[in-house]
Amino acid sequence: MAIELINEIKAAMENHELQAYYQPQYDTVTEAVKGAEALVRWIKPDGTVVPPCEFIPVLEENNAVNDVDWYIAEQAIKFIAEHRDLIGHTSISVNFSRDHIREPDSHLRLAALADKYDVPHKRITAEVTESAMVIEGERIGAWLENMHSVGFRVAIDDFGSGLSSLQFVKDMPFDILKIDKSLLSQNCGNEKERTVLESIFYFASRLNMTTVCEGVETMQQLSFMRTCGCNRIQGYLFSKPLPEAEFVEVLKVNKNTEHIGDILAMQNPTNAQKLLMEAVFIRYPLIIFSNLSKNSYYMMAYDSFSTKTCPAAGIFDELIESGAKTMAEEDVSVFVDAFERKNLLRAYEEGKKFVRVVTRQRGDDGIYRRVETTDYFVKSPSSDDILVITLSENLE
Ligand code: C2E
Ligand code: MG
Ligand code: MG
Repeated sequence: MAIELINEIKAAMENHELQAYYQPQYDTVTEAVKGAEALVRWIKPDGTVVPPCEFIPVLEENNAVNDVDWYIAEQAIKFIAEHRDLIGHTSISVNFSRDHIREPDSHLRLAALADKYDVPHKRITAEVTESAMVIEGERIGAWLENMHSVGFRVAIDDFGSGLSSLQFVKDMPFDILKIDKSLLSQNCGNEKERTVLESIFYFASRLNMTTVCEGVETMQQLSFMRTCGCNRIQGYLFSKPLPEAEFVEVLKVNKNTEHIGDILAMQNPTNAQKLLMEAVFIRYPLIIFSNLSKNSYYMMAYDSFSTKTCPAAGIFDELIESGAKTMAEEDVSVFVDAFERKNLLRAYEEGKKFVRVVTRQRGDDGIYRRVETTDYFVKSPSSDDILVITLSENLE
């Protein structure tokens, strides 16, 4: 049975019956086309379109999927070469089944294929599924490094569909995280679901990964994606996978459309907050969040401050100790009196809104500057903990 199907697919490739369809990926905010995923279809001579779920899993089980992947990869690369102007800065992703991880030198083979058509490697992304990562474990690291060494981008496909291991995401420098459609309900209305999704987009953005949400079908889902910083949308709401000629039309319209990047007009709170942070950061190159009740801190942003001697997150008392060491001698006691935890807590109990001092402080570059440091007291939204936000401004 499996052998029969494998042979049929081989013949289908020889007869050019396997085709790449392209499902566009859209910028969540501007709705510009940012790329597409190449998805195999078997078009039988009578015109029947066989979806991949009817043959890819069988090929995968029998280690016979690689030829199909290479075939589709070559079609996608040819497509990029033929439509360079329309493709512009976008990229096409191809599905790489987990067998490629074991295939020696698959990165060199992909590179040779791209070079044959003179296609820049950064126009191509290889997608591997989360389940492949779990099965292949350590091997993924070397494979990823190889792909990067020749300039390809790599995506984790179907993230959240199975046994996601955050360990992998943390340790492996993937470029793109594709969130599986199974994590989304019809309207993203469930509070827990929203919290999980928000956390995924948050950690991905902190790890500098581009996020793509798969299977977006409703306006409610899109609206929610806009609030949590998801970068791209791939789903039926915008477009199904399209035959090549139809995808070319989409690219043409995209090229001739002015995409409105006004994120405030688009009411995207996450992006608006990011912009606000940028503005705050211009004035305050050091921003620290601290929990006085828990004796902990977290540095949000820093520039020319004493971060070399002080970790980006840790124990608040140690932060003050280490900060004191960077003060000019005559300012050490002013600094410590103001910001020692017990003194801050007392100031809070006395009803003060903030504590502010000006000191001379040595930065990572060894230069002393006059710095105004203000600790604003804020209440934790989720507990009785007393928090402070420190904003430090260079006065010279
Ligand atoms: P995938 O890589 O996760 O691709 C996304 C699948 O989700 C596609 O199904 C796409 O049509 C579908 N999809 C996209 N948006 C929506 C939506 O809004 N709603 C719903 N219900 N579905 C949506 P497709 O094309 O049937 O492909 C299924 C899977 O087959 C792919 O999942 C991929 O794992 C595999 N596949 C497809 N082409 C290839 C290939 O060339 N090589 C390999 N190894 N696997 C492939
Ligand atoms: Mg995929
Ligand atoms: Mg997927």
